[in-house]
This record gives sequence, structure tokens and C-alpha cells, in this order.
Amino acid sequence: SEKLLEVKNLKVSFQTYAGEVQAVRGVTFDVYKGEALAIVGESGCGKSVTAQTIMRLIPSPPSFIKDGSILFDGTEITRLTDKQMEEIRGSEMGMIFQDPMTSLNPTMTVGKQIAEGLVKHQGLSKEAAKERAIEMLRLVGIPSPESRVNQYPHQFSGGMRQRVMIAIALACNPKLLIADEPTTALDVTIQAQINDLMKELKEKTNAAIILITHDLGVVADVAQRVVVMYAGKVVEQGTVDEVYYDPKHPYTWGLLRSVPRLDDDSKEELVPIPGTPPDLFAPPKGCAFAARCPYAMTVCLEEDPEHTQISSTHSAACWLQHPSAPKVERPVEVGG
Ligand code: SF4
Ligand code: MG
Repeated sequence: SEKLLEVKNLKVSFQTYAGEVQAVRGVTFDVYKGEALAIVGESGCGKSVTAQTIMRLIPSPPSFIKDGSILFDGTEITRLTDKQMEEIRGSEMGMIFQDPMTSLNPTMTVGKQIAEGLVKHQGLSKEAAKERAIEMLRLVGIPSPESRVNQYPHQFSGGMRQRVMIAIALACNPKLLIADEPTTALDVTIQAQINDLMKELKEKTNAAIILITHDLGVVADVAQRVVVMYAGKVVEQGTVDEVYYDPKHPYTWGLLRSVPRLDDDSKEELVPIPGTPPDLFAPPKGCAFAARCPYAMTVCLEEDPEHTQISSTHSAACWLQHPSAPKVERPVEVGG
């Protein structure tokens, strides 16, 4: 299928008083039209920075794109002016965040907030935009949308507010929807409902979805492909089946053991990955996971591994994939 987004060797840093933080260190992945791709990793791995850079939502300075390219439907995003980018954000990309309250305007009805972009970017009349707002509220599963459209954000529960955010993000019929930890701030039953909604929207809209999460448990339900990030790099990517049932990177093994899985009824104990990610002021020269990896070899400390292609859709950046590496079995309790 056709590529919608091509991220190539993206490097993003932050300038701080203490020096440069290399938050994204050469990230490459594609998103195909209409697919749902998950980007997974611990907090601080660069997944949110990557997403916000695609949407050009991080202020520059302090952030800056050091290298690489972001091609969105044929347009090089990194070279657009702020004004051109605003136009694309308003009409072709939508984003939802962890906490809907911080992105909703408390003084404006939700109807007006959904309608705003439609009037501004699609030239709809106020009446037509309100009709569309009602239709969007219905699409995201808000009951009695005709009266809810006139209410303010504080009149909605946390889960309903996240639905409103999704309605705003989808109102302009974007080609790409980026959802950054959309359920993290919600309680567990509501999380499941929002995940179901995401799944349903994947069928109902033709938007491609990038789902950013630290929780591999929610990924299989929503996404077809997974990108695993660690310390500002992609360490593994593949189809959901490949990453779940045949993961190749020790970090992915650790992730799979450390998160609860929705489809897993066994009361297996969750094992957190020991240690902490490296300091991105001074990233290690070898594999960034080496300090936490039980399989680390001398070469791992000296040289950063390239991606090895395991199938046409699956790759991992780990020295264990080298033909002369010792054979290591992944821990048995991992995967299906
Ligand atoms: Fe572990 Fe080495 Fe693979 Fe890094 S390259 S994940 S340190 S085995
Ligand atoms: Mg984040």
C-alpha cells in the first residue's frame, strides 16, 4: 500500500542550560495510508518528541531538527514555514494527547471547539460546522450529541473529554491522526472503552493512525505494525504478530514481560526491566541498551548495531542478529 509518511534518519535535540539533549537520534519509519502504527517505549525514549516533530508542535528553540527528513504526502515537513505548517495541521493532521483538559478550552463549548477548524480551514458556514460537530460527537460515541454540543468541557467526564478531543482531531477528516498516550490519564475501564473507540475509528475513517504508548498491551488491538523505540532510536519494528510472537531485541523481550497484556489471563508476574535508560546528554557509543542487557557482549559496548532485516516487514538493531553471535533463546515466558 501507499506511503503517507516517511520519516528518515530524524535527529532532534534540545538545547538546555546544561548542554544538548539528543532526544531523537536517527529515527526511520514509514506510515502507510490508512494503517495504524504503534510507537512503543518507556517514557523519555523519544516517541513523543518524534510525534510532535512530525506535527511541528515543539517550539524551536529549544528544540531543533539536526538532521533527517519528514515527508508527509509528498511534502517535506521540515522545510515548511510555520504558517504552511499550521494549514497542514488544521486540515490534514490531527493529534490527541494524554490529558484532554490541557488541550481543551474551558471557556468555549465543545461544539465551537470542533467547529473552529472547520470554519477556519474548510470554509464551512457556522451552521454547517455545528451540524458537523454534532455528527462528530455521534461518531465518537457521545450520547445526545444535539444537546452535548452546547456544553463546556467541565460538563464532561474524563473519558468523554477524550472523546471530544478525538472528535476535534477527526473533524477535518485528516490523513493522519497521532494519539499520544490517549488513555494513560484515564481509569482502566475507560481506557478499554477509548481503545475500542480507536479500533472502531480505524474502520470508520480513512485516517492513518500513529498510536504512541508505553503499554504493549493495548497495541495488538489497535495497530497492525509496531515500532519499538529506546533511547532515541528504533530498536525493533515489525507487524504486531512479529513483535509479539517473534521479538528479536532484548529490550522488546523486557517490554513484553513488564506490561500487562489484555489477552493474557495467566497470573504471570510482571517483571520490570532493571536499570534506567542512558543519559541523552552523552549517549553511549555502543548499543544504548547494553547497560541493562543481560546478553551484552564486548562489541555491544563499542559499536552501535545496525538494523538486521529479519523479514520484509521485521527488523531489529541488536548484535545478537549477527551471523557469528552466540545463539540466545528469548526468555520462555515471553510472547504467545
Ligand atoms: Fe543487548 Fe548487545 Fe543486543 Fe544491545 S546489541 S540489545 S547490548 S545483545
Ligand atoms: Mg510522552
